[in-house]
Amino acid sequence: MTADAATNWSRNIRYQAERIVAPRSMDELRALVTEAESIKALGSRHSFNRIADTTGTLVTTADLDIPLEIDADRRRVRVNGGIRYGELAGVLESSGWALANLASLPHISIAGAISTGTHGSGDANRSLAAAVTGLEILTSTGDIVSFAEGDADLAGAVVGLGALGIVTTVELAIEPTFTVAQTVYDAIPFDEVVGSFDEMTSSAYSVSLFTTFRDRDVVDQVWRKARTDAASAALPAALSHREAPEPRHPLPGVAADACTTQGGHAGPWLDRLPHFKLEFTPSNGDELQSEFLVPRAHAVSALSAVRDLAETLAPVLQVCEVRTIAADDLWLSPAQGRDSVGLHFTWTADEAGVAGVLPALESALAPFDARPHWGKVFSPRDPAEFAALYPGWTRFGELRERLDPRRAFANDLTRSLGL
Ligand SMILES: Cc1cc2nc3c(=O)[nH]c(=O)nc-3n(C[C@H](O)[C@H](O)[C@H](O)COP(=O)(O)OP(=O)(O)OC[C@H]3O[C@@H](n4cnc5c(N)ncnc54)[C@H](O)[C@@H]3O)c2cc1C
Repeated sequence: MTADAATNWSRNIRYQAERIVAPRSMDELRALVTEAESIKALGSRHSFNRIADTTGTLVTTADLDIPLEIDADRRRVRVNGGIRYGELAGVLESSGWALANLASLPHISIAGAISTGTHGSGDANRSLAAAVTGLEILTSTGDIVSFAEGDADLAGAVVGLGALGIVTTVELAIEPTFTVAQTVYDAIPFDEVVGSFDEMTSSAYSVSLFTTFRDRDVVDQVWRKARTDAASAALPAALSHREAPEPRHPLPGVAADACTTQGGHAGPWLDRLPHFKLEFTPSNGDELQSEFLVPRAHAVSALSAVRDLAETLAPVLQVCEVRTIAADDLWLSPAQGRDSVGLHFTWTADEAGVAGVLPALESALAPFDARPHWGKVFSPRDPAEFAALYPGWTRFGELRERLDPRRAFANDLTRSLGL
């Protein structure tokens, strides 16, 4: 799917912006920011809500002339925040380097992904934002503010919801390249999955569970991505003899052409860690998405609570994905301070239908202190609830007051959060 000039990728959001601009120089960008009453950075438009919206100017940094620099000694890469993970991954791989993890798709921009706390999967893998070791942000006063490793506020600035300014440069931790073998398993009994949940998710570097709940007693697919340089964990008994006979797409009945190589064939990290290939439309394209992160300790209870809602969700649910995410310390990261399980929902594109089922789902997950993914669809709620979910909420507000006192980067979504 290609978004038209003024919509997000999934076309459920028409940006209210007067214009979308792609400056080529820092001077041009600075003039745009200082002259604008309202302005917002736009990444690759893969968020499903109004987080990237503004009534003023939308600006992408992708065309800024910021060189990509690899510092082999420090194991860091410095890069334009506007470029996509897929582009960065190709350059890193050709130089013998890798990122620790990727999301399900390589199409998203680095600044856009870190701003919403985007994550992949893996018991020991933190959010993509947690790989950030430095940031440069152009603020509404026209100043560049740098955050480096060791700065107390770096942890507040990374998952910034686009509300602090325009991220121009990002520094990320890298490691030597590695290879991964991806294998998909079919139709695992639900009771066996929940009975061996820890064994299942720890059995490979990155593990995802996909299910539609059409058969409540079965988890449709388990995707295991194993690093070939790590000691191989034993295959959980629930998966033995259940390897898929042919490549799978997470959505039932969809051909697997868009998916990365399966069947246990080892390949470079960038071609296995995402579920979808850069040159194809990821997922379905005709969809909405929501996701809620709960503490890992509640994984089985939360998943069972979702299964109890199967009939309610069925009219709009395409597939549910379950992933694990290690805790980080980023103030507004949905995985802040707690090892987490992400319960993701790929919905049909029926906005009213999704809005109709979300309250039941959110109430079922509320006892687990579920934190919504910032870039996906969630119901409006009392801002005090967000403050209660995030210990760093007030501190983030103070950082925001310092960087954007005139609220040039505020929008309807940040205002609805009470920010
Ligand atoms: C098919 C599909 C699969 C997905 N899979 C995953 C997944 O596996 N895991 C996951 O966690 N999420 C996933 N997502 C959600 C997606 O990763 C997030 O919504 C992410 O934020 C999108 O990045 P983007 O570059 O499109 O940013 P946008 O949606 O364009 O913007 C998101 C936010 O970032 C801000 N922003 C963008 N660029 C800058 C900048 N230069 N400076 C400051 N702020 C900036 C925007 O203002 C906005 O607030 C998926 C989405 C889709 C469509």
